[in-house]
Amino acid sequence: MWSAPSVDSVFGTATTSSSEAVLLAGLAFKHRWQLRHHDQPQSHMNVIIGEKAHICVKKFADYFDVKARFVPANEQSRFIFDVDLLKEKLDENTSQKLTIIVGVFLTLGSTYTGHYDPIEAASKILDEFELQTGHSIPIRADAASGGFIAPFTAINRSFVWDFHLRRVASINTSGHKFGLTPLGVGWLVWRDKSNVPDNLLLVSSYLRGTQTAFTLSFSRSAIPVTAQYFNFYSKGIHGYRAHVNESLNKAQVLSEQLEHSGYFACLSDIHGQPSRHNTMCKLHCTDSESLNIPGLPIVVFRLCSDVKKNLPELTLSDISDVLRTVEISIPNGAKYR
Ligand SMILES: *Cc1c(COP(=O)(O)O)cnc(C)c1O
Repeated sequence: MWSAPSVDSVFGTATTSSSEAVLLAGLAFKHRWQLRHHDQPQSHMNVIIGEKAHICVKKFADYFDVKARFVPANEQSRFIFDVDLLKEKLDENTSQKLTIIVGVFLTLGSTYTGHYDPIEAASKILDEFELQTGHSIPIRADAASGGFIAPFTAINRSFVWDFHLRRVASINTSGHKFGLTPLGVGWLVWRDKSNVPDNLLLVSSYLRGTQTAFTLSFSRSAIPVTAQYFNFYSKGIHGYRAHVNESLNKAQVLSEQLEHSGYFACLSDIHGQPSRHNTMCKLHCTDSESLNIPGLPIVVFRLCSDVKKNLPELTLSDISDVLRTVEISIPNGAKYR
């Protein structure tokens, strides 16, 4: 699913959520560096995080005392991690060895707009940086939503993000999002077990036999794990593909209809490419060949500037409130009108 290089070397764990997975993956980065460079001051340890990364990534930096350097995302960068600014962040103090960057955190499926961070482009920049400085910086992909979307769309053939890229050290996803399980399971996979220092693996023998675990909690429900297994078994790759493509098609049709109304402009752009010829009647098609712009099957929209000018008192929360009365719940970001 994520192009793991070898079943013998990969290592993974079930977690309660993607948040736990992100904390564990960050800890592995940190400890790996500490083990290899015990002479370096820990206070100089940095991570690079996209400004629009999920809150749990910032939580990792705060809780585990690692300084974060934020790469902005804005309208010019299509709301994703601006790779052009990555180089600047790498150079700041790093060349003088005043700081160490232990990893770059990228997101596959922004919580705000559904866009994918440019993982391949970031990886190339880090390759060049390694050539120049000898300093190898790994990437980790927070694919909480996209981990169960990208592998099942045809676009994935040209969009490279997973363990194909040797710099991608670990990937996580939430079973309880597009993995279609009940709440309570995330998945975290490392390309190679050597990425996880032994001192983080806890061995216990409270239960039958001896267990090795890398986790923040001890007990957890097996229900969502069993449900995940059941889904894999019963739906298979074709079932997931059909589900993902249907969701993407619905999101595209909704985006087009919203824009067609003349009132709204979409910030998400999975519907945006010129070559697409999808129509309502293709709603149930299971072929995503016509998709060119990768992204999550979500629709993010705001009011067109004309509408804002002509109806200055109308806000998106008014629309959200009206929809609520017919039991449609649409979250509304206060920043955008
Ligand atoms: C939802 C989400 C998370 C957190 O996942 P949980 O399973 O709810 O902990 C982390 N990162 C991204 C990008 C998300 O969309």
